[in-house]
Amino acid sequence: MPGAVVEGRGEGVLYDAIIIGGGMVGASLAAALAAQTGKRIAVVEAYAFESQSQPSFDDRVIAMSYGSRRIFEAMNLWSQLESLIEPILSIHVSDRGHFGVSRLHHTEENVEALGYVAENRVLGQVLMDRVRSTPHIEWLCPAQLENLQQDEQGVDITIRLGDTKKNLRTKLLVAADGATSRARELAGLNLQRSDYGQSAIIANVQTEYPHQNVAYERFTETGPIAFLPMTQNRCSVVWTVRHDEADAVMALNDENFMAQLQQRFGFRLGHILRCGKRHVYPLAYVAAEQLTKGRVAIIGNAAHALHPVSGQGYNLALRDVAAMAELIARHEDAGHALLLAEYHAARYQDMQRVYRFTDTLAQLFSNRLTPLAHARAAGLVLLDILPPLRHLLAKQSMGLLAPMSRMLRRMQP
Ligand SMILES: Cc1cc2nc3c(=O)[nH]c(=O)nc-3n(C[C@H](O)[C@H](O)[C@H](O)COP(=O)(O)OP(=O)(O)OC[C@H]3O[C@@H](n4cnc5c(N)ncnc54)[C@H](O)[C@@H]3O)c2cc1C
Repeated sequence: MPGAVVEGRGEGVLYDAIIIGGGMVGASLAAALAAQTGKRIAVVEAYAFESQSQPSFDDRVIAMSYGSRRIFEAMNLWSQLESLIEPILSIHVSDRGHFGVSRLHHTEENVEALGYVAENRVLGQVLMDRVRSTPHIEWLCPAQLENLQQDEQGVDITIRLGDTKKNLRTKLLVAADGATSRARELAGLNLQRSDYGQSAIIANVQTEYPHQNVAYERFTETGPIAFLPMTQNRCSVVWTVRHDEADAVMALNDENFMAQLQQRFGFRLGHILRCGKRHVYPLAYVAAEQLTKGRVAIIGNAAHALHPVSGQGYNLALRDVAAMAELIARHEDAGHALLLAEYHAARYQDMQRVYRFTDTLAQLFSNRLTPLAHARAAGLVLLDILPPLRHLLAKQSMGLLAPMSRMLRRMQP
């Protein structure tokens, strides 16, 4: 029953893996483990999927990379998702007040689409349908992690499930409880954190002209603005502003908000006709120094929260999911220190590359200094005239520079 407390078989059972957090990433890992019927898996999630307070499956959209499509294919979920999302056939990057423009096309990259735009709730529904139809995965909700202790053989956790406390034991604990992860803190994993000094304001809009499956990224003096093509010819807007400007933008009425957005974005899609509810997300860079400690591993925002300018956060996390699902599927004791060290080694480089890529974009395109603005404009022109450079950027954006997990390699012809 939606939102009801699920009584886990729980106490006395040794789980193969317990996932803390059933948001975008925790639910993706659970769905990826649906075929592993011999494993005992539990997910501990604080909010029911249908709850308005559910922080992960909210009004945002995800620009999914082509690489993420391949992971959904490997999970046998692509056919359910495909008709509910919108392909990105080209990406148009421009700089307000400068001449530089760059364009990426799916035909140049020999792919059906450069990426796909999925509403978080729609993606969540597909994942939850899979998890709910999988008896060996217990969904413990609304439940919160309260305590964690580990020894050489396993991890003991205490959770609050509704009005009761439960003690559970697992061979492997996967923390997917977001950027402020309690599991990460209890396990004693260190992280680097810095404030970008910016907030992202999101809203869905309807424009005069059809988007024709073009994603627009426009750099303005107040920060980058993205228009992502959605189903029903809507666009999802992500507008990044300085923290101190966010309140003022949020306080505008719809008419003035659309006017300001129009002024910064321009008229490539004609007039902005309507806009939906706005939400604001303060942006911080969070990157864990270690991905594992003892029998605890961290994935998704618990391991890395990134600036949305490059649309990489969930895509990167899905590669964590593929590697982690593979580890759990292939080993009797996936929490063994040697195996987790292997997981760390397999994922670390990809993460570092994505951090650098995202951080460079965030710094470069949020900077108002004139020499940097000129360099940026020149960079866009260079990108437009140098196909090898453009291919490299496209490959990184599509998530195709990352090493392939076994899960994907199995799918290669
Ligand atoms: C404005 C914006 C736009 C973005 N656009 C893109 C994009 O286009 N492409 C892309 O790839 N990425 C994008 N991202 C990043 C993407 O949203 C994140 O990577 C993703 O949401 C991370 O999911 P998560 O499950 O790791 O964490 P979260 O979404 O934070 O979920 C954590 C879950 O854990 C639960 N939880 C927390 N604490 C506990 C506890 N103690 N016990 C039990 N449960 C707990 C929460 O209820 C929640 O369900 C964007 C982010 C923002 C802010």
